[in-house]
Amino acid sequence: MSGVGLVVALTGGIGSGKTTVADRLAVLGAGVIDTDEISRALTARDGAALEPITAVFGPDIRLADGTLDRARLRELVFSDPSARARLESILHPRIEAIMLERLAALQTDYAVLVIPLLFETGQERHADRVLVVDVPESIQIARVMRRSGLSETEVRRIIAGQIPRLERNARADDLVDNSGTRADLEPRLRELHRIYTRMAAAR
Ligand code: ATP
Repeated sequence: MSGVGLVVALTGGIGSGKTTVADRLAVLGAGVIDTDEISRALTARDGAALEPITAVFGPDIRLADGTLDRARLRELVFSDPSARARLESILHPRIEAIMLERLAALQTDYAVLVIPLLFETGQERHADRVLVVDVPESIQIARVMRRSGLSETEVRRIIAGQIPRLERNARADDLVDNSGTRADLEPRLRELHRIYTRMAAAR
């Protein structure tokens, strides 16, 4: 198993602030594993998932330079649930395997696994606690639009494909409210860091 004393799964809706929170906890001393980053590496040029994705979706899923046509793939999986399931069956087991491999190698007091679709993929079993980053939908939409250039309709469509906010929050052991500034996050993140460090030592 892992070398850490406590495993925390960090989740939240798109643009809620998962990366922002995880980066800060890493600075405080947490061992962070980001499954989004693993997913990007798997689907990058020469990534291990690129060939399996091409085998399932056809050569048109690659751009002329050989890289993945992410816009096309996103469109496909949004309009077709079975395409989404096929993509997930390629990506999720690979992401999970790499995540667990990295977790086993960590030497920090506690680990933070950033898993955007934690409940949707049933991965709570890997964690001792679940930490949810929460923002009201209006802030979530504004931040994602500012960052990505997606339209409000597109952001709402992504949100609609995720577990509803209240359900996600109800399943959290710990919550971080990220509706304020980044500086506003600081006391709560320091508190959580203290709590997790203490819990890890007690196990
Ligand atoms: P995704 O689900 O897309 O991976 P995420 O949950 O990891 O996103 P972040 O990338 O941390 O969220 O934050 C989303 C955007 O909002 C980023 O552009 C980030 O810089 C910005 N942001 C995060 N927290 C705050 C804050 N408290 N105040 C203002 N902007 C913020």
